[in-house]
Amino acid sequence: MRPATAVIDPAAIRHNLSEAKRRAAGARVVAVVKANGYGHSAARLLPALRAADMLGVACIEEALALREAGAVQRILLMEGVFEPDELPVCARLGFEVAVHEPGQVRMLEQARLERPLIAWLKLDTGMNRLGFRPEAGLEAYRQLKGCPAVAEIRLMSHFASADEPEDPGTREQIRRFAATGEDLGVQRSFCNSAGLLAWPQAHAEWVRPGVMLYGISPLAGRTGPDEELRPAMTLRTGLIAVKEVRHGERVGYGGTWQATADTRIGIAAMGYGDGYPRHAPTGTPVLVNGRPAALAGRVSMDMLAIDLGSQPEAKVGDPVVLWGDGLPAETVAARAGTIAYELLCGVTGRVHVELQGVE
Ligand SMILES: *Cc1c(COP(=O)(O)O)cnc(C)c1O
Repeated sequence: MRPATAVIDPAAIRHNLSEAKRRAAGARVVAVVKANGYGHSAARLLPALRAADMLGVACIEEALALREAGAVQRILLMEGVFEPDELPVCARLGFEVAVHEPGQVRMLEQARLERPLIAWLKLDTGMNRLGFRPEAGLEAYRQLKGCPAVAEIRLMSHFASADEPEDPGTREQIRRFAATGEDLGVQRSFCNSAGLLAWPQAHAEWVRPGVMLYGISPLAGRTGPDEELRPAMTLRTGLIAVKEVRHGERVGYGGTWQATADTRIGIAAMGYGDGYPRHAPTGTPVLVNGRPAALAGRVSMDMLAIDLGSQPEAKVGDPVVLWGDGLPAETVAARAGTIAYELLCGVTGRVHVELQGVE
């Protein structure tokens, strides 16, 4: 078996969820598990997420997969429905829908459902992605109020820059959301992980943590452990070759890495075909036998090269960690010019998934 494996730790997820609940005491939690639980095999995490009040996904396909896998909670579709015939399925299976667009209001106006739905009216308070501007939102609210298909309306909005505590836009977003929601007396939800961690005044009735459940800090310059979070995924593999390289010799595609002295190079079974970022440059940290080492040259589809200059005893079969336990994905992401979210979601189907502590 090729050793490329994502080791998922359900105990870490459980811990991170309880940390989210502790930080947002009094708020209920929508555990965000879209994109297959940020690449962590959402269906297999359901027992660890039992304490979440709801689950949050992007679309009905994801919700159906979770229901089929035994999810007991109600599930929020955060992009709402795309076609009217999804609404009866939502009503039947306990899915709640975001409503961010006039077409979705019309679908609800025309729907005849056996059981009315909970609609989360999405307000655009400044991100300019999804949602109604506050004035239009009040009009949509009145329309939804008149829909027999709608049992209850809640308000949601999304932060653009909650991860940057200095950004004045967040205060303005909070002000607009409060100004719109105040008089309606409905339940509200604003916070993603960054909002939950950095903007306690915006917790409201529901929070929607995603990335923090997986042990990642969304806050600029910080890592999960800085926030008392435990990384839930360790991406690991093994060395499949070790070779001597002489001073001046070059390594990998394009020969971009050149030995400045006689040294040893380890080849690990992990590449961009597994979701390891091709843009990770020479020097990106990895762990070999739990000790720091660094990428040497370009990442290939199935392999990457590691400078073993600091580990003369390393040999074929030795374990390599690409991120996770002992090496924050945030650090690797920063070196590769991306964010940990993208690394986690990008792990491909070829990588074995192993649940730690679960047979
Ligand atoms: C993905 C998402 C979240 C979770 O965001 P994190 O930054 O991962 O915590 C919350 N709300 C909405 C609407 C989302 O799309």
